[in-house]
Amino acid sequence: MTNLSYVITLIGKSDIPAEFIASVQEIFAKLSVVSQFEIQLDGSRVLDYSVEIPIGALAELKIDLFDLSTGSGVDIIVQPTENRLKKLFIFDMDSTLIEQEVIELIAARANVEAQVAEITERAMNGELDFNASLAERVALLKGIESTSLFDELKTQLVFTNGVKELCKVLGNTGVKMAVLSGGFTPLAKYVAGELGLDYAHANNLEDEDGKLTGKTYGEIVNGDKKAELLQRIAAENNIELDQVCAVGDGANDLPMMGVAGFGIAWNAKPVVQEKAPSRLNSGSLRDVLYILGYSKGEQEELLK
Ligand SMILES: [Mg+2]
Repeated sequence: MTNLSYVITLIGKSDIPAEFIASVQEIFAKLSVVSQFEIQLDGSRVLDYSVEIPIGALAELKIDLFDLSTGSGVDIIVQPTENRLKKLFIFDMDSTLIEQEVIELIAARANVEAQVAEITERAMNGELDFNASLAERVALLKGIESTSLFDELKTQLVFTNGVKELCKVLGNTGVKMAVLSGGFTPLAKYVAGELGLDYAHANNLEDEDGKLTGKTYGEIVNGDKKAELLQRIAAENNIELDQVCAVGDGANDLPMMGVAGFGIAWNAKPVVQEKAPSRLNSGSLRDVLYILGYSKGEQEELLK
C-alpha cells in the first residue's frame, strides 16, 4: 500500500502540553502513521511533524486530529509535503486582513449598525445568500454622506495582528498576493497598497450628489466570484492551483479555498472551520508562516 507524505503542524497559543502531544501520538499509532522527524518551529509552541500516512487512513486521521484540537487551544494543520511553499496567497479582507467589517463601520454612520451586523453574521455563517444579503445591507446605507466617507474609513481600519509581518515575508520571498473582498473597492485598494498586495477586487458602492444610493454597481464579488478570480490570477501568473493558498473567515471564502490547493480558515465561523482545509485560531496572522514551515528564526531573517 502506498503512503502519503504529509506535514502535520501543531500551533499552540502557548507551549503545547505533553499530554496533548501524547494524544497526537496515540492517534498516529492507531492509524499506523509514521512520524519520520519532528521540528520545533517556535520552541514547544509550534511543532512540525513530517509523516507517512497509509493512503486509506488520511480521512480518519484528519477527523481525529480535528476533534482533538477543538477547544484545546492548539490548532493542527494537516497538509501534503509537496507544494507546501505557495506562489500565490489570496486573502479575504474584512475580519481577515483587517479586524473590522467595513460595512458595519459605514452603517454606524446611520445608526443601522446592529441591523447590518446581524445580516453580516448570518451571511458569514452561510445562512443567507451572499448577493441578497449584500443588497439588503447596502440598502440600509442609503443617504449616508459619501464625499469623504472612504478617506475617513481608512483612518479607522485596524490591521490584524501579524498581517504586516506575514505579507512582508511573503513579498520578500516572491509570493504574489491578492485581496478578494465582499467589501468595497476603495478600501480593498488601500489595504492592498499598505500591505504590498498585487491585486485587489471588491464591490462598488454607488453614490449620487454626495450620498450613497443604497445600491452597488458592477459585478458582485461573492463566494463564486472569489473562486473565479483566484483561478484567473493564478492562470495569469502561470501558477498551478496546488501552489495557491486562500485565507478567510466567512462562508463566502469556502469556494475559493475549494479551488485552491490549500486554505486556512482564520478565526472563522464554526461552519467554515469544519469545511475548510485547515484552521488557525491564533492571536497572530503571522502564525501562517509556521504553516509554510518557516521557523521563528527564519522568519526573523526574512523580515529584515
Ligand atoms: Mg471576512
